[in-house]
Amino acid sequence: MVKLPEFLKTDCYVGGKWVAASSDKRLDVTDPATGDVLASVPRMGAEETDAAIAAAHAAFPDWSSRTAAERALVLQKWASLVRAHADDLARLMTQEQGKPFAESLGEIEYAASFLSWFAEEGRRLYGDIIPPHRNDARILVTRNPLGVVGGITPWNFPVAMVTRKAAPALAAGNCMVLKPAEATPLSALAVAALGEMAGLPAGVFNVVTGAREDAPAIGKALVDSPLVRKIGFTGSTAVGKQLMRDCAGDLTKISLELGGNAAFIVFDDADIEAALDGIQVCKFRNSGQTCIAANRILVQESIHDKFVAALSARARQIQVGHGLEKATEMGPLVDERGLEKVERLVADATDKGAKIHLGGKRHEAGGTYFQPTVMTGVSTEMDLAHEELFGPVAAISTFRDEQDAISMANDTPYGLAGYFYSRDVGRIFRVADALEVGIVGVNTGLISTEVAPFGGVKESGIGREGSKYGIDDWTELKYICLAGLGAAA
Ligand code: ADP
Repeated sequence: MVKLPEFLKTDCYVGGKWVAASSDKRLDVTDPATGDVLASVPRMGAEETDAAIAAAHAAFPDWSSRTAAERALVLQKWASLVRAHADDLARLMTQEQGKPFAESLGEIEYAASFLSWFAEEGRRLYGDIIPPHRNDARILVTRNPLGVVGGITPWNFPVAMVTRKAAPALAAGNCMVLKPAEATPLSALAVAALGEMAGLPAGVFNVVTGAREDAPAIGKALVDSPLVRKIGFTGSTAVGKQLMRDCAGDLTKISLELGGNAAFIVFDDADIEAALDGIQVCKFRNSGQTCIAANRILVQESIHDKFVAALSARARQIQVGHGLEKATEMGPLVDERGLEKVERLVADATDKGAKIHLGGKRHEAGGTYFQPTVMTGVSTEMDLAHEELFGPVAAISTFRDEQDAISMANDTPYGLAGYFYSRDVGRIFRVADALEVGIVGVNTGLISTEVAPFGGVKESGIGREGSKYGIDDWTELKYICLAGLGAAA
């Protein structure tokens, strides 16, 4: 067991109390780089989830009737505490998730930014007064919290995905039951502990942990409860679709941030060095385990060979190792399942004619490390053209012209992010318009910020998180028709 800072917790947080599972069953949380057990957390199920829902329901009348300013004060304090404990949180995240310490620190700031941002946005949930349809009436529109809401989050951004949901939900006056991913529950529990320190009243934010096998029961308890009015989910498309089907039962609202298969297009008029910088962040950051990672790199024929050589030279320099080592630029994959998937997709591509320029195998460091990989000759019949790679594999194809690039980029059921590099202003507008995605990065590989709406089209999801729009999905409109205001008697 590692020594955990005193504010880090290994029990669940329900109704303002730190509790174990009723069965006393626990789940070991491991360091993916070493396999070492860091700690264990409760394995909860439907019963405990129902208790958390009840606690959130009990907390709702008080929390929702506070002023937005009162809620904002708690969220701002929470943000300050996350920032004040950034080093400890980042160290913990690196240990349970694998990403390099500097990336973890970046994520902690990103996570805090949602708390700060939505503390402010919660104060701007303005309604409307609409010119009425009759003279003796006034029409008012208010924006109200939903009640109890559920959050289900993934392991690739163990803290930011939590605050990106909890901050707008709580700022709007809802109370939340969160189920973090089985690989990274400690980060979520640590954030809950800081929320408690910030003054979150009991039951406003609850965390229920479990093993992978427990997730369906926890998910079902959330979806089936008549008290839960909305689910915010980030994760795989398959699970997201299942949850949406289940939500149909009693019309629980759902927003989904699902998989992506981003194209990263490099036109021949691009600044090549800038494009290489972009790939570095949007392909190798978090070992490629992001839903907005460049899954398919499309390079214009005339610059292909030069580009591949330069990218291979850069990728060869990437320092692979444990995320807590200073020199490390890329950590391991999160688990064996993720590693096997990357191996399968690379093998499928090479069987179908792709050429490996760099890497292509498990890394000599062992464990779940994979080599930074550059591969060319990728075509649409390969599985990676349709599936999320979630690994450090730059998969390159060529295209002839702009129209060809757009068709290739859109040839996927996904539509989360798309990137392209060009210095032609006309082309920039044409291609940005034509890409069927929710997020476009033009001459940048880094598009995540709390001030902009994050989310996808097509099978990448429904709804937006972050920005002024990101609070909408956690509220409901109410129209009040105030009549009988006719002439004075
Ligand atoms: P990944 O394959 O990247 O782990 P998942 O969609 O399986 O993505 O996981 C994302 C989140 O969804 C995790 O918190 C996981 O525990 C949860 N989850 C997985 N299966 C279900 C399910 N059937 N119902 C509810 N949540 C689930």
